[in-house]
Formats: sequence, structure tokens, C-alpha cells
Amino acid sequence: MPPGYRDVAAPNLTRLSVVKRCPYCSANLKNSETRCFSCNRKVGEPDRHGIAKKPFDWKGYGMSLLATVAFIGFMWWAFFRK
Ligand SMILES: [Zn+2]
Repeated sequence: MPPGYRDVAAPNLTRLSVVKRCPYCSANLKNSETRCFSCNRKVGEPDRHGIAKKPFDWKGYGMSLLATVAFIGFMWWAFFRK
């Protein structure tokens, strides 16, 4: 294998590929797939490396925000109310 072979070949393979890789478990998925069959997590569009993006988890984000607000509210209620 000549030096630099990998660097030249890899981008071409990725561009032609119709599969993407799960960012969580590295399973090969079809480009149209929105959920990994292997780990059952949501996956997004493939990036230029052929690895699916992790979609933004609005539910998880909302829940943690809610928990933070509730915690601050509780702290205020417990310590700062008159
Ligand atoms: Zn997976």
C-alpha cells in the first residue's frame, strides 16, 4: 500500500456510500434510516465522514431545563422566601 493511499481512497468511498454509521454503536445503517436497528437510538443525516449525526434531543433538553428550573425554584422557596 503506497503512503497516503488511505487518505485518497477514504473520502471517495464515503461519498459513494449509501450507508451511514450509527454514532453510538457503529452499526451500518441505510442513509434513509432515522433510527438505529441495533441500539434503537435516533440518528440524523450522515456527516462527510459517513457517520450519522446525533439528533438534538429536545425532550431530554426540556426535561433537564425543567429540572433545573424546579430545583432553583425549590431553593428559592426553601431558603429565600420571607
Ligand atoms: Zn446504533
